[in-house]
Amino acid sequence: MQRDQRVHDNWALLYAQQIALEKKVPLHVAFNLVPNFLEATIRQYGFMLKGLEEVEDELKRFNISFFLLSGNPEIEIPKFVYESDASALVTDFNPLKIVRQWKKSVAAKIEIQFHEVDAHNIVPCLAASDKLEFAAYTIRQKIHKLLPEFMDEFPSLKKMKTHNSANEKFDWLKIRNSLQINFDVHEVDWIAPGENSAQNSLEIFIKNKLVNYNDKRNDPNANAVSNLSPYLHFGHISAQRIALTILPMVENFESHKSFLEELIVRRELSDNFCYFNNNYDSFEGFPDWSKSSLNTHRNDRRDHLYSIEEFEQAKTHDELWNAAQLEMTLKGKMHGYMRIYWAKKILEWSGSPEEALKIAIYLNDKYEIDGRDPNGYAGIAWSIGGVHDRAWFERAVYGKIRYINYNGCAKKFDVKEYVKNNPKS
Ligand SMILES: Cc1cc2nc3c(=O)[nH]c(=O)nc-3n(C[C@H](O)[C@H](O)[C@H](O)COP(=O)(O)OP(=O)(O)OC[C@H]3O[C@@H](n4cnc5c(N)ncnc54)[C@H](O)[C@@H]3O)c2cc1C
Repeated sequence: MQRDQRVHDNWALLYAQQIALEKKVPLHVAFNLVPNFLEATIRQYGFMLKGLEEVEDELKRFNISFFLLSGNPEIEIPKFVYESDASALVTDFNPLKIVRQWKKSVAAKIEIQFHEVDAHNIVPCLAASDKLEFAAYTIRQKIHKLLPEFMDEFPSLKKMKTHNSANEKFDWLKIRNSLQINFDVHEVDWIAPGENSAQNSLEIFIKNKLVNYNDKRNDPNANAVSNLSPYLHFGHISAQRIALTILPMVENFESHKSFLEELIVRRELSDNFCYFNNNYDSFEGFPDWSKSSLNTHRNDRRDHLYSIEEFEQAKTHDELWNAAQLEMTLKGKMHGYMRIYWAKKILEWSGSPEEALKIAIYLNDKYEIDGRDPNGYAGIAWSIGGVHDRAWFERAVYGKIRYINYNGCAKKFDVKEYVKNNPKS
């Protein structure tokens, strides 16, 4: 279990259980904890560990053993499989697909087969498309065509007969203290981690907010968005469960439609971008029209130039940008519309598009609970590099990249209110 850290509505776990039941053998779940990862801090690790503790408890109710491995997964997972009884149980199945190169080499070394199940997307990334998609309109039709095939109701997880009694509860505090990460970025308490809280958040969203989603989702003062992205990132909730719940509701059709467009099409487009574009986090990953246009405007005069520290400490001249940065650093989740403004202004006030991209990814991954996600890399590449977008009117610094400004925001929502809601401390 790695990308989808939940017990229910998890196709990978259900598939593993089906095999275990057919073979009449116990079922083990292993999670490999990497002691540090990209810019992740205790804010993201804390959220993840609490979710995993819930996974451990819930699996126990189903007589499924949970193993927490720690270290390099390339070493720890084969070691675990080799050393545990599990290795003997899985040798004679046909592999569905082996995608990652390391899996192949590991599989060869320990002579077992891997079955990869995409439990994260509704239409699995590799089924949705076999190439890098140009924009939402090129992938939308493909996904809509395949949705009926994949939108099955999940079967319930069954209780296993046998249980590995050697499996004691982990000391989660000790695990937390062993992490080699930044503990200065504080955890947040407005959102509770785990599968149960994710389900509650979905219910609250449907009951109180969905009705206004279409009209108000771009207003950061309106509290009309779902706040499900941290749960989706860690797999505490399945996108398919969300879609299965919302699809049959026919009232407020426009809101359902626009929410499902974001949840399914935009989200799967981001996965497509990160899977098929090896340069998803660099200037080279931008489309040719954008690279050429940004190159033409490379030496344009910038009205403001800020260092990474000035950005990080919200010390720009712009109260709106500073408020967005503070929303992210203090709350751990910037509103979606503000993320666009935030990233585009970093392009405008940095020495080069490369530098802007580096700063935006660094800050996003360090402070957002939902950071280090394909949606983040795609969203930043869209804002700064025109990925999945089209060329707009040419202007200084931006070239043909879509432009946004303070006055544009002021026409959409009450900027002063947003600034007031996101003070320095
Ligand atoms: C510069 C920038 C950085 C971003 N960084 C991240 C990030 O680190 N992690 C992250 O998950 N998203 C990121 N996004 C995408 C989007 O802003 C967030 O997914 C959204 O704001 C999450 O809040 P929510 O769950 O309340 O959204 P809702 O509006 O309630 O949407 C529901 C779900 O739909 C999906 N979704 C919504 N908007 C988008 C989008 N534009 N692209 C892809 N999927 C979308 C998400 O899974 C989201 O949870 C970024 C966007 C931009 C422009």
